[in-house]
Amino acid sequence: MRLLVCSDVHANATALEAALQACAGLWERAVCLGDVVGYGPDPNEVVERIRSLVSAIVRGNHDKAVSGISDLEDFNPVARAAVEWTRSQLFPENLRYLQSLPRGPVDIDGFAFVHGAVEDEDEYIFAADQALPGLLESRRPVTFFGHTHIQGGFSYDGARVERVELSLMPGASFAAVNVEPKKRYLLNPGSVGQPRDSDPRAAFAIADIEKRRVEFWRVPYDIAAVQDRMEQAGAPEALVLRLAFGR
Ligand code: ZN
Repeated sequence: MRLLVCSDVHANATALEAALQACAGLWERAVCLGDVVGYGPDPNEVVERIRSLVSAIVRGNHDKAVSGISDLEDFNPVARAAVEWTRSQLFPENLRYLQSLPRGPVDIDGFAFVHGAVEDEDEYIFAADQALPGLLESRRPVTFFGHTHIQGGFSYDGARVERVELSLMPGASFAAVNVEPKKRYLLNPGSVGQPRDSDPRAAFAIADIEKRRVEFWRVPYDIAAVQDRMEQAGAPEALVLRLAFGR
């Protein structure tokens, strides 16, 4: 069984389609870690695509804000503008779908899935000390998380937390990490639609359950086409520009 894990698509249909095309036929089930919408120009298209694609999904903070489950207090002005624009565009049925998304953790195929942290769906895990509680408390040895838009994650061997190092060879589509039986993991597939780890390519992961291996993929896509649609929609310039830098 191979599981496609995608997160933080953020209404970027071009990145999502490029990612799906690159790994077509290489997975059997798909999971989404939330932030289906927000920032990007294609909210309806992406909601409908994700809905038809996934076996399991958890909600992200943008999905909650857009669908009115949470307020906009924690959002900066640029993110807030994106939420309001997205809300104005979404068809009622797609808005209802976002409202219906469950909070993590969701368990499937022996893994746990969350948007932010294990205990708090809105918390960001950037550093080892932030990762430790989740590594200790998750119901599963391997938990996938999103929210930071940074591909990689953390492992714990019972003594210390280490960052999962990804070495993507030039020309390769993915870096593979072997899941060791005695360790616990918090793994981030990265963001499909708005990477922030200095690599602007769409990011996602494929977990191979039998081989105990996770592939961390990067796929180029037509960033300029997405930027054009964002400009037409009147998106803040900072949001348009950051796609090209992956920051
Ligand atoms: Zn996000």
